[in-house]
Amino acid sequence: MPKLTVVVPAYNESAVLAIFHERLRGVLDTLSLQCNVLYIDDGSRDDTWTIMQSLAAADARVGALKLSRNFGKEIALTAGLDHVDADAAVVIDADLQDPPELIPELVAQWQAGYDVVYATRSARAGESGFKRFTAAAFYRTMEILSDVPVPRDTGDFRLLSRRALKALSQLRERQRFMKGLFAWIGYRQTSVQYMRDPRKAGKTKWNYWRLGQFAIEGITSFSSAPLRLATWTGVTASLVAFLLGLKVLIKALMHRDPVPGYPSLMVVILFLGGVQLLALGVIGEYLGRSYAESKQRPLYFIEEERLPASQGTLHTE
Ligand code: UDP
Ligand code: MG
Repeated sequence: MPKLTVVVPAYNESAVLAIFHERLRGVLDTLSLQCNVLYIDDGSRDDTWTIMQSLAAADARVGALKLSRNFGKEIALTAGLDHVDADAAVVIDADLQDPPELIPELVAQWQAGYDVVYATRSARAGESGFKRFTAAAFYRTMEILSDVPVPRDTGDFRLLSRRALKALSQLRERQRFMKGLFAWIGYRQTSVQYMRDPRKAGKTKWNYWRLGQFAIEGITSFSSAPLRLATWTGVTASLVAFLLGLKVLIKALMHRDPVPGYPSLMVVILFLGGVQLLALGVIGEYLGRSYAESKQRPLYFIEEERLPASQGTLHTE
């Protein structure tokens, strides 16, 4: 029987974890696959880990990993996927925003021959208009800037085939923009529509600052367009400056005009100063990223692990 592992990253999710597990188990029991669940405790400060341990103790098909600290969802997910040894893996959030009931549909598409089956939200219930607007703006920007198309309105909720998993496990970059990485590996990809529910309990770890950081991360790790934009701004500014300089020179030489300077001088200096700082910031963004890569640190450390009974380890760090 083909094996399926469900990977669930969780950070301070003690409020929903037990409910989540009940619903997930109900769904997995209907599948004619050998199912495992792998929980990853991303350095939670509540009793998420205790709950995970009791879930694992109660059921041999449930495994749990505890990371040495909070590494962020993207790394927690990577840690989970690294420990999957199955024919397919499903990635799902613990807060019940991704309905486990969709898993059979994902599996059906996988059995129809797709390698990556991602779930696309057709509605975002319980999210403010502003959050929706910023999310939409982000996906559109990514679409324009990125070299590989990142599918719209798609979270990390998806199914990966064995070869997609293997491909993904070879991408070891430290700055991990998972949506982009999933798209980058290629293979046969398809989507399944669903309605995104509001969070059942607990609260989101995202705030606008974190989302902003995430957006910069997404753009800089999948596109060098901002660098090119800086170049073109520089080229345009130099051209304008050259023409303006020519005009001033001609005026001064031919018409003996005393050049009236202060206001225009101030504007030009301040404007160019701003552009230069901005361009420097853009370069710094990329430099910082390549610095982080060059340190070659491991992506995460595992404090404790309890893998599902029927499973070995594919890849560990
Ligand atoms: N998560 C995690 N580490 C973190 C933050 C979040 O493992 O540092 C998990 C979290 O427990 C949940 C999933 O990632 O299962 C999605 O998090 P959240 O609901 O906060 O994000 P949103 O749904 O708002 O995008
Ligand atoms: Mg959520």
